[in-house]
Amino acid sequence: MACNVMSAQTRGATLTPWTYQPGPLGADDVRVKVVTCGICHSDIHMIDNDWHISTYPLVPGHEVVGLVEEIGASVRHLLVGDRVGIGWQRGACLQCPDCLRGDENLCPENRATIVGAHGGFADYLDVDSRFAFKLPDGVSSVSGGPLLCGGVTVYSALRHAGMTSGQNVGVIGVGGLGHMAVLFAAKLGNRVTVFTTSDDKAEFAARLGAHEAVNTRTGEIACSRPLDVLINTVAAPLDWEAYIKTLGSDGTLTFVGIPDEPASIPLIWLMARRRRVTASPIGGRAIMEEMLRTADNFGVEPIVEVFPMARANDAIQKVRDNTIRYRAVLEA
Ligand code: NAP
Ligand code: ZN
Repeated sequence: MACNVMSAQTRGATLTPWTYQPGPLGADDVRVKVVTCGICHSDIHMIDNDWHISTYPLVPGHEVVGLVEEIGASVRHLLVGDRVGIGWQRGACLQCPDCLRGDENLCPENRATIVGAHGGFADYLDVDSRFAFKLPDGVSSVSGGPLLCGGVTVYSALRHAGMTSGQNVGVIGVGGLGHMAVLFAAKLGNRVTVFTTSDDKAEFAARLGAHEAVNTRTGEIACSRPLDVLINTVAAPLDWEAYIKTLGSDGTLTFVGIPDEPASIPLIWLMARRRRVTASPIGGRAIMEEMLRTADNFGVEPIVEVFPMARANDAIQKVRDNTIRYRAVLEA
């Protein structure tokens, strides 16, 4: 059997069709026939080797929804025909204190779907079944992919920063991750303020459930109510001092988008109101299940633009140009 994929043969390259032979299916693995795959900005960071961990040929794709076609000898929790999702993580030791707590994303041996392995811009993908999540019936195949990386990343970051309900929550950047942060925070009963550089997104924010939108290209970084939780989804240096000042006492700024240069945050503005700054990577298996349940129960449906797999390059260009509204999804 061969996997037919779209791959970058060199750093920054346009994707081209390519084929590879997967190894034998491991005892804990499943073979998944890909149905859809979202495009996360991390795929583009990997194509461009922004993090100096890429190897080529690189097959992007870590927001995968597919149907289980074959199961390894030890797999008990999935059946052939099950609809599953696969996100950024494809493995962990499953024995360290972090893994035992359900924080597999913090495991020192965590392995990523598209680092040292080929991803989901493909017709088939073999993965460790412990990192393939059965999707609730209420989560559609085009919604499922974006939730598996972008969704769990913002949900976990917001929860670990203390988000419950009835709070004031801010979201910086309304891209793939940012719009899902607005959806989760608003559907769970919070008052949401978005900070965006896009005129149309400022106008559309209310339709996502936001109560207030600040266009930071034309307006001041400020907010009508002190924020309890503020999440940054932008990978560019911003005026962090101004953002810290939007937090109320004991408020938390959590980073999921990481600027490519060190952030300068004056500690005096943290001390003055006992504010916190933190950062959060994806989410472990326990919060992944919780996020999927929450998305199902509260109708959190990412807004997507669907492209056939053969048009992956057009979709990637739209993400680069920030003209996607709000997540690009490829159909295999
Ligand atoms: P995306 O869809 O491209 O969205 C990024 C948004 O950032 C844009 O839509 C835009 O929002 C804003 N933006 C972009 N350039 C900007 C600039 N120069 N100044 C101000 N705002 C800018 O990307 P994504 O898929 O949501 O991913 C966002 C970041 O999170 C990426 O760096 C990705 O690698 C990272 N990520 C982290 C994790 C994690 O585990 N922590 C997981 C997944 C992704 P507006 O148009 O609203 O301004
Ligand atoms: Zn991602």
